[in-house]
Amino acid sequence: MPTPFPSRRAPVFADVPDEKWFDWRWQLSHRLNTVEEIEQVISLTESERKALSTRGLFRVDITPYFISLINPDDPNDPIRKQVIPTDKEMVPFTAMMEDSLAEDRHSPVPGLVHRYPDRVLMLVTTQCASYCRYCTRSRIVGDPGATFSRAEFEMQIEYIKRTPQIRDVLLSGGDPLTLNPRVLEEILRRLREIPHVEVLRIGSRVPVFLPMRITDELTEMLQKYHPLWINIHVNHPNEITAELAEACDRLTRAGIPLGNQSVLLAGVNDCVHIQRKLVQDLVRIRVRPYYLYQCDLVEGAGHFRTPVAKGVEIIEGLRGHTSGFAVPQYIIDAPGGGGKIPIQPNYLLSYSGHKVVVRNYEGFVSTYEEPTEYTPHDPTTCPYCQNKRPEPGQTGITGLLDGEEMFIKPENFDLVHDRGGTQHRLKDEKKWVPLGIGSGHRETATSGDEK
Ligand SMILES: *Cc1c(COP(=O)(O)O)cnc(C)c1O
Repeated sequence: MPTPFPSRRAPVFADVPDEKWFDWRWQLSHRLNTVEEIEQVISLTESERKALSTRGLFRVDITPYFISLINPDDPNDPIRKQVIPTDKEMVPFTAMMEDSLAEDRHSPVPGLVHRYPDRVLMLVTTQCASYCRYCTRSRIVGDPGATFSRAEFEMQIEYIKRTPQIRDVLLSGGDPLTLNPRVLEEILRRLREIPHVEVLRIGSRVPVFLPMRITDELTEMLQKYHPLWINIHVNHPNEITAELAEACDRLTRAGIPLGNQSVLLAGVNDCVHIQRKLVQDLVRIRVRPYYLYQCDLVEGAGHFRTPVAKGVEIIEGLRGHTSGFAVPQYIIDAPGGGGKIPIQPNYLLSYSGHKVVVRNYEGFVSTYEEPTEYTPHDPTTCPYCQNKRPEPGQTGITGLLDGEEMFIKPENFDLVHDRGGTQHRLKDEKKWVPLGIGSGHRETATSGDEK
């Protein structure tokens, strides 16, 4: 099949024989990371040169394949900005955090993040094929000393085994597809042995940084562990090449559904038109846009942040304007461990007892009549309602809707709002207790009323 997508190689690599260029091992061992190496491909700005010469900055490494996608004459090239550091990385900003998603706090064992009721994030390596400058895990990623730890892996497996509500395990890192294939296969096999683990997922940018890694041998191994889903990470249409298209074709032919997670980045893809081309090209290579993330409050990434309004504007420009399955969900991963929160324009304008008022992408305002008679399904005979799995302490808004909870209140809410009207203070204890529980010593506020 002739592919409409380009294939590029920077002039400095023109003499590399194809057997080497298309060998992922050659690509990995020829990654560029110094001023001298990178300057053979693009001429660096002062700011880039300064960052590349600074010790202690987040790791730099770029595959020859990926650096070849940069237009050497454009200092604002969108691929360049993702992988070449600038001195802006050294600038702190308000609200900057090291672990902005509080992943470490949500880890019952090292490297395993259990944030949501039925799924876990398993960090299986700190290594990537190349390093994104805005990495949300730059606190741990890239450290060449930290490799796969057998002891931690066994602890992670044990935790998943004894936690039956986990039905979805997401492998990430670092990039799981950079692992030694035998190690990766062992992880998949051990997870597959756990009966309650229904779905496996891998988050990987290898198809984008190192598409030659997606060999038939690899996909034959991966497809033994179905159902397996993969999310890749493409931010700009320039990353969609003949090589990426081929890698995605191999993965989808192995029965692996592909999604894309991108990050909204200032100067890279903060534009409705770029985003529309990106999602349309993604679906051409059978990758479904999944999430578009607001940039996290992570150290070194301040210059990539956009206002949230930009993300809303992008979704406004996609929904209705292009194929529904090409529209990602825009997400703020809430600082402090709040988790992923979907953000979108408002389409529901108002409602009354009978009608809801809605608007479409064109601004056409319509109404939907609510049914006058509605016989809901009967939860007392519904087998799913009868066997619903408990989510201890995690019923949330759903718990309010199903009638079992009346409110959710912040910690100390009662204390803050106790003005003495319905409660009283016990004489000898400095503690507020509800009326009826105490022993009847009334204080000023209520006794005043009784006059
Ligand atoms: C993103 C994430 C997941 C997966 O979230 P989905 O919305 O199911 O894709 C799971 N655990 C953690 C900690 C995450 O950050």
